[in-house]
Amino acid sequence: MASDEETNQRVQQMIAKLQAVIVRTTLLFELDENSIWIRDARDLYFFVVSAWDLLKTLLSSSQHEDIVGQTERTYQFIELAKDKYAQVQSELETFLAPDAERLTMELKEVFSQLLSELSESLLPFLEKLHHTSIEDTIEKMSPTSYLLHCAVCGAVAVSFEANLREDDDSLYYSGIICRITFDLASHRGVFALLETRSLRDVHDYLRYKTSLEDGIDAYCPKCDKIYCKFHYHTEIIYDEGFYDCTYGVCPEGRRRIIDD
Ligand SMILES: [Zn+2]
Ligand SMILES: [Zn+2]
Repeated sequence: MASDEETNQRVQQMIAKLQAVIVRTTLLFELDENSIWIRDARDLYFFVVSAWDLLKTLLSSSQHEDIVGQTERTYQFIELAKDKYAQVQSELETFLAPDAERLTMELKEVFSQLLSELSESLLPFLEKLHHTSIEDTIEKMSPTSYLLHCAVCGAVAVSFEANLREDDDSLYYSGIICRITFDLASHRGVFALLETRSLRDVHDYLRYKTSLEDGIDAYCPKCDKIYCKFHYHTEIIYDEGFYDCTYGVCPEGRRRIIDD
């Protein structure tokens, strides 16, 4: 196994390569400081460096005081980097020059190496994170509060929570990427479906009866299972620099649009 120092050197080299591609693109297209591409590319660089800084502290001490928090923050920065990378690439494709294509390939190569290095290093920490033995995927906390747990690790992936105050009659949904508030009066039926323990019925209800057109974002209909944000991998798609949609890929490799 490679020593920490070797890994560190390898990642530092990749980060330097990433910076070099950004600088070359800037010079080639004579982009000025305020161009959107430069700002997004700098964000990408910042997210990658931040993820690696956090990971290094995790890797260097087995007794880190806040392993859970540090693991989650590292994961968030990797996710932010993935999102920003997709946007930066999508913007670069609009430059429509022969060199743009070469630069997107170079960026792709260096970023995929970085991503796999970061993800692989984080994986043992992620696996340690949640290991609760939840018998039911659907956990009833109260008649108006339910949690849905990941089929792999038991982490909370989704919550449904109703507010019964007179001045605020709402139903809150929080999934792996979507957060939305419904009008409780119209959607009280969700709780009856959660009570029947059928994920598919709850998913279909949301799809056809609410503004959450892609249903439960943490749900894979083919597996009929819920996955947390660590186990349902998200791929964000940009079109000419603008958000298009998000795909989810479950641990079985099944892919679907989870937000459009
Ligand atoms: Zn999970
Ligand atoms: Zn699946």
